[in-house]
Amino acid sequence: MKKNPRLEIDLDKITHNTKCIVKMCRKKKIEIVGITKGCSADEKVAKAMIDGGIKTLGDSRIENIKKLKESGIDSEMMLIRIPMHSELEELVDYVDISLNSEFSTIQKISVLAQEKNKEHKILLMIEMGDLREGIMPEEALNIIEKINKLPHVTLLGIGTNFCCISGIMPTIEKLEALVLLAKEIEKKIKKKIKIISGGNTSVLKLVEDDNIPEQVNQLRIGIGVLLGQDDARLRNLCGTYQDAFILTAEIVEIKIKPSFPFGIVGRDAFGQIPDFKDIGLRKRAILAIGKQDIYLSGLTPIKKGITIIAASSDHLLVDVSEFNENIEVGDEIQFQLDYPALLAATTSKYIHKYYN
Ligand SMILES: *Cc1c(COP(=O)(O)O)cnc(C)c1O
Repeated sequence: MKKNPRLEIDLDKITHNTKCIVKMCRKKKIEIVGITKGCSADEKVAKAMIDGGIKTLGDSRIENIKKLKESGIDSEMMLIRIPMHSELEELVDYVDISLNSEFSTIQKISVLAQEKNKEHKILLMIEMGDLREGIMPEEALNIIEKINKLPHVTLLGIGTNFCCISGIMPTIEKLEALVLLAKEIEKKIKKKIKIISGGNTSVLKLVEDDNIPEQVNQLRIGIGVLLGQDDARLRNLCGTYQDAFILTAEIVEIKIKPSFPFGIVGRDAFGQIPDFKDIGLRKRAILAIGKQDIYLSGLTPIKKGITIIAASSDHLLVDVSEFNENIEVGDEIQFQLDYPALLAATTSKYIHKYYN
């Protein structure tokens, strides 16, 4: 018997999604970096991405990259969160390429790489309006000239990011500005900027619409591959699966109860004052999974007639009054996950993983 709660992962669907996106981008000579952070760098998922045509894997955490390497994956590895000074030793040991925006950090990487006699590649992040990582465009040339003087680090290219903190969407104008910046820098430093890394899944729409400058030659794709979604536009990517990951939880109580709590209202387990509507007597099921393992608003019951009521740390309540199949204690309920829910589910050590 399978253990619950569980996450079932269909590796063929991950490979399919990867192939689909790789193929679409290959037409535009864009290479895809497969981003594994959304599934806590599950090794089998990473391998499924490689089977789909991914050459470079990226993750935000060095622990994850280390884990992938130690599982025998020898793909090129990219660290996509700006590295901490306290992790540079491991960075140089395990990571081939890192996204950077601080010269002091790059300087330290150079010193360490020299000591270890290794080469490290840098993608310099440029701020294009989403206001997370990146230097302002006008500072790029100055920093790049300084990077080019450092031993054992190579500037591989420049990159940017959209739809991460501020929800700023990628546009052809923004990417053209990035390309123009690269051209200006190339002229000044008399060297080619090899990679222009245009962003994440939100940029795929521009590829689909043939609305992306031809010099953009790399995208870093996580959610598109894992969930077949473009979450910035709330749309599914054409030809991909959205259900490569399915979460299953088990019913431990099922009863007809009032929908409106009775007694004096205080705060719930998470400090909130709950707000419930009285919709009469309802059939309610308790599932043995909770906020420690899930991101509540990111779960969608797969079968019709099941709705989520609320959750505490270890219990998830669902209303099954409209569910017209026989249902009892011990039965299972399945959910599709969005990106935050997948992140939570793969981080929780209490959720058992099964692959098919
Ligand atoms: C998370 C992340 C990505 C991947 O984003 P998706 O929306 O999952 O495709 C790409 N680049 C950076 C810097 C990221 O942090």
